[in-house]
Amino acid sequence: MRDIELKKATLADRDKKHLWHPLTQHKLSPDMLPIKKARGCVLTDDEGREYIDAISSWYTAVYGHCNKFITARVAEQMQNLDQVVFSGFTHEPAIKLSEALVKILPEGQQKLFFNDNGSTATEIGIKMALQYHHNLGNDRKVMLAFEEGFHGDTFGAMSVSGLSVYNGAFEDHFIRVERIPVPDGRNNPEVIAKLRQVISEDKIAGFIYEPLIQGAAAMKFHDAEGLNEILRICRENDIVKVADEVMTGFGKTGKYFASDYIEEKPDVVCMSKALTAGLLPMGLTSCTQEIYDAFFSDDIAKGLFHGHTYTANPLACAAALAALELLISEEMQENIKEISKKNRAFAEEMKIHPKVKNIRSRGVILAFELDVQMERYGNLRNKLFQYFMEKGVFLRPLGNTIYIVPPYVIGDEELEKVYSTLRGVLSEF
Ligand SMILES: *Cc1c(COP(=O)(O)O)cnc(C)c1O
Repeated sequence: MRDIELKKATLADRDKKHLWHPLTQHKLSPDMLPIKKARGCVLTDDEGREYIDAISSWYTAVYGHCNKFITARVAEQMQNLDQVVFSGFTHEPAIKLSEALVKILPEGQQKLFFNDNGSTATEIGIKMALQYHHNLGNDRKVMLAFEEGFHGDTFGAMSVSGLSVYNGAFEDHFIRVERIPVPDGRNNPEVIAKLRQVISEDKIAGFIYEPLIQGAAAMKFHDAEGLNEILRICRENDIVKVADEVMTGFGKTGKYFASDYIEEKPDVVCMSKALTAGLLPMGLTSCTQEIYDAFFSDDIAKGLFHGHTYTANPLACAAALAALELLISEEMQENIKEISKKNRAFAEEMKIHPKVKNIRSRGVILAFELDVQMERYGNLRNKLFQYFMEKGVFLRPLGNTIYIVPPYVIGDEELEKVYSTLRGVLSEF
């Protein structure tokens, strides 16, 4: 026991010496938990305690951690081609991935631009929208976005994100953005009125949106019909529709993409997270032939001069292709349906509970607000987090919002444990 204590202290101390963690105020949260192992749906810490990964490690590891099918395919790829420049060269993993992905992407998506993560995927989506109009000689330099949207942490992505409470230091450097509220079904006429007003006053190049579910805004759901109407008006006004599917993509909403629920199709789709199954980092931005054609020219300056060193890394492409094969398999589709069904039943059961507010589910995503007097708990979010970890379930509540995005391969017993922990929280708080 002492040995284990010593080892933990050592790892935690060594972490503190040189490491700076993301989204962390180190003075307020000094301690990081060392994780030693991840298999399937379970994370194991350095003392051997196990935690069900009920958010798929930020929506990435949906086929389970260290999935053997995927790791084997990457290991095989590693023997042949690890990395090569993607300007002037191409390779089979990228080509095969493009052929497979285009088959399931929202209708009209034709061209894929590789990048490194979700922020670069949206950054490129924004650049495609702005340069599309620039190349056509249109004076349109403003992006349109939802209030409370989240699109990443690079400058363009930060600019269009509405949740910018932590971005104060950079606001003077943001690109120009106009915002509209999210349609909730009741406010749709006001949202549309605001949209029309913004379009008439500004020179909007593109509209970036998280289709149907805003993850960082505490799993806020919005109205599909309202969104469809917004997108229709964007199309009529030649505003490039940029769908940020970084969180919603690859099955989480019950369909391959959240855009599949909406009649109006995007011009650009941003992907990352589950794209590579949590194994390797990669982002992708796809677009229609029409967008691509605006960059296709004898004039070299009309090209998209954006490139990352690791663009279309063959290992990441191999991981993404293996992940895609799993996603479209009957078995995985059944799993997603089964979890969706159980989530709906759980939501039905819980909606009458006096402490449960606004319980909602779509696909494997389930969320609700814990209706308690938050002042009573000091930092409620941290207390909830601690409660879940003590019960062996890894969840990251946002304020009083509790949500799950379980891996598609979660077992019945594991999922039941997640639900019973959620029930437990209602009697504890
Ligand atoms: C996570 C996320 C991003 C940013 O992705 P990173 O890989 O963290 O840079 C962008 N958009 C949405 C909707 C996300 O959920």
